[in-house]
Amino acid sequence: MQDPAQRFAASRAWHERASRVLAGGVSSQFRAFGVFHPMHYVRAEGARIWDADGNELLDYTLAQGPCILGQSHPELVARVQRAVARAQLFAGQHEEEVLLAEALQRLIPCAERVRFASSGSEAAQACIRLARAVTGRQRILKFDGHYHGWLDSVAFNVAPPGNAAGDAPVPWCAGVAESAAADVVCLPWNDLDAVRQVMARQGAEIAAIITEPVMCNQGCIEPVPGFLQGLREICDAHGAALIFDEIITGFRLGLGGAQAHYGVTPDLALFGKALGSGFPLAAIVGRQRWMAPLEAGAAYHAGTMNGNNACVAAGLATVELLAREEGAALRHIAAMGARLRDGLAVLGVRHGLKLRVQGPGPMFNMAFSALPRATEFRHVAADDRASYQAFCRGMLLEGVRLIERGLWYVSAAHTEDDIAITLAAADRVLGRIAAG
Ligand code: PLP
Repeated sequence: MQDPAQRFAASRAWHERASRVLAGGVSSQFRAFGVFHPMHYVRAEGARIWDADGNELLDYTLAQGPCILGQSHPELVARVQRAVARAQLFAGQHEEEVLLAEALQRLIPCAERVRFASSGSEAAQACIRLARAVTGRQRILKFDGHYHGWLDSVAFNVAPPGNAAGDAPVPWCAGVAESAAADVVCLPWNDLDAVRQVMARQGAEIAAIITEPVMCNQGCIEPVPGFLQGLREICDAHGAALIFDEIITGFRLGLGGAQAHYGVTPDLALFGKALGSGFPLAAIVGRQRWMAPLEAGAAYHAGTMNGNNACVAAGLATVELLAREEGAALRHIAAMGARLRDGLAVLGVRHGLKLRVQGPGPMFNMAFSALPRATEFRHVAADDRASYQAFCRGMLLEGVRLIERGLWYVSAAHTEDDIAITLAAADRVLGRIAAG
């Protein structure tokens, strides 16, 4: 095995050059956490990506989720090219935008109305604005460890360490408006009693409960039975909006998102990532009553680039390709994901390592932890992150690219052979970790 300094020398040199001009050497803070250093890439196709040193890597980041069909799917690329050849941006409505909105309305239970946006962060903000506009209330309830984008209104209790229920919200990073904390209540996830108690006291002030339907960003934790349904009932009882952040679950747990998968319909939801297959496309969808402030023009959501031809064409292609043969691609993703997830768990046992591998399959989380199952953020906060970093470094040297915080994504382009190659690499790396 080559020395990483040699193996990724060109990437390293690019990073040094980038750091003299790009703030932190990156365009998104999450890219700053490279296994050795932020990597530079030149090309990607299917399940593989090539870095600046010419290393071919089997990719389980899917660009942090969007590339659900794999990279550069030929039909998607052709469709985007045709759209861009007509025009880049009308800043007016066009046929494909209506077709895509109609498809979302057909597929997603709460999508009586649709509004396109360009990123998940702004779509979350728009949902919160709609909830405030309808209820006339200010505060929102969010959960520890849930990420809804980088904007101030939700930038609290995002990352470990968590605080105890009832503590003041902890800002995610420097520069978050202190005044925003007054409008946020943070609670542990999967704990209906905690939600009930807070809503009993403060329900009249709460405009919305916002949740990832699966806590994807920390531990990939599924809701305990009855939790989402319970949130639905609590919101109904108190007149608050239930907002599902389906940025990761959307088009991964099924074409109707987590809301169809778990059979709980929110009032508002946001979709992104996989919807645009790597093009900046997000959607705010919701019940007509909760989208009404947009229809009346009472609340504003705007964006110069929204609904642009390339992104909408990518969205249409994604939805059509995923729906083809009654969802064959999604079934393949779920099967490959489950095989990989279960295979990693077996390897952990074989090597006598305490691994927790948890999640629905199309995405799942792997962590070094004595806790076999996590149900909330505090469990994840105790994970041995240093060992997972070591695992990621070993896997990268084996030619497998992973997200350093433990989330794995599987695409339609991953084959049975790819899964076998990955498990064989993991076997070697875990063996070395177990040997100390
Ligand atoms: N919500 C969730 C659950 C996410 O994972 C993310 C991004 O990772 C966002 C919202 C923000 O989306 P974007 O990065 O498109 O602004």
